Amino acid sequence: SEELAFVYTGRPGRVIFERGARAKVVEELERLGVSSAIIITTPAQADVAEEFASALGKRAGVVYTGAAQHTPTEVTEDAMETLRSAGANGCLAIGGGSTIGLSKAIALRTDLPQLVVPTTFAGSEMTPILGQTQAGRKTTLTDPKVQPETVIYDPDLLATLPREIAGPSALNAIAHSMEALYAREANPVIDMFAEESIRALGESVPVFMGEGDPAHAYETALYGAWLGGICLGSVGMAIHHKICHTLGGTFDLNHADVHCLMLPYSAAYNREAAPRAMAAIARALGADDGPKGLFRLMQVAARVTSLRDFGLTEADLDRAADLSVENPYWNPRPVTREGVREMLQQAWQGQEP
Ligand code: NAD
Repeated sequence: SEELAFVYTGRPGRVIFERGARAKVVEELERLGVSSAIIITTPAQADVAEEFASALGKRAGVVYTGAAQHTPTEVTEDAMETLRSAGANGCLAIGGGSTIGLSKAIALRTDLPQLVVPTTFAGSEMTPILGQTQAGRKTTLTDPKVQPETVIYDPDLLATLPREIAGPSALNAIAHSMEALYAREANPVIDMFAEESIRALGESVPVFMGEGDPAHAYETALYGAWLGGICLGSVGMAIHHKICHTLGGTFDLNHADVHCLMLPYSAAYNREAAPRAMAAIARALGADDGPKGLFRLMQVAARVTSLRDFGLTEADLDRAADLSVENPYWNPRPVTREGVREMLQQAWQGQEP
């Protein structure tokens, strides 16, 4: 039996979770004192933004549909122009991590209140973290100012999410919970959130990727993603996030797809060093072994199932291994070039780890 010793910091934020909860958006904006909102989303979700705009009536200041992956600063500046000329005094963001990133970037610059309605499982809405890209370089900051004041989870909004985006996004959420279990700042509260999150996502992914009732499965997965977001916002991330940022940034790979593929390999990297976390993952997935359970889930959820299928060469693996040992994140097992290179080789071949 290990001794209990931990630090836990709770983060403020109001969360409403219910099918149909988007109907509460006007009252929640009112609660935040927002009389004119900039409504933000990606080009693909412009129609959803328009529906919210009509529901908002006079509170709809302006609609901005230019959000893009990795929060490019030129997009943020463009959105700031739109916001200023409309005189908006709050943000309403409807979308995935890209949309929420733009909302956070605006909040960082203006301190305006944010109401966020997530439509993927990325979990950014629960964190004080913001990644931004300027001239192709991504930097990440943590600032309580960027954490949304209110989040409305409406599982019905996920009905339009294509399965090939939903599956990888759900494994992106599991990545937050998995790394929280072996984080340096791990604590018993976050452990409970993390294990419950993996259970909910592990149960629902095969259902919505298969033939089962997707509405109920999306609801369960969104609940798991919310818990995963809390994990991400509360403790530090480790090798999995480092390797995904390296691969994603160097080879311009899709965020959720790279998380999804690498998840079982990152787990296996820490298999011996983090036995308690591995036992929790195995329990949550009903598997004999955590990494193997994650591998099976990855194969159900992923649209890209090996680094070779991403178009990477073995020389690219050498480069990625070199980069991932520069400024390594804390990890329960030391991050070595050889260890990372071996893990990348397995992921390149798509082998069971
Ligand atoms: P995304 O926001 O780019 O969405 C992926 C695609 O799905 C987009 O084309 C979007 O328009 C579409 N889409 C989203 N929801 C939909 C729906 N319900 N129906 C139909 N289409 C829908 O992808 P993502 O994986 O959610 O977010 C990735 C980004 O978020 C990355 O830039 C990543 O760095 C960031 N992120 C940040 C944090 C954080 O805490 N700061 C956490 C996780 C992710």
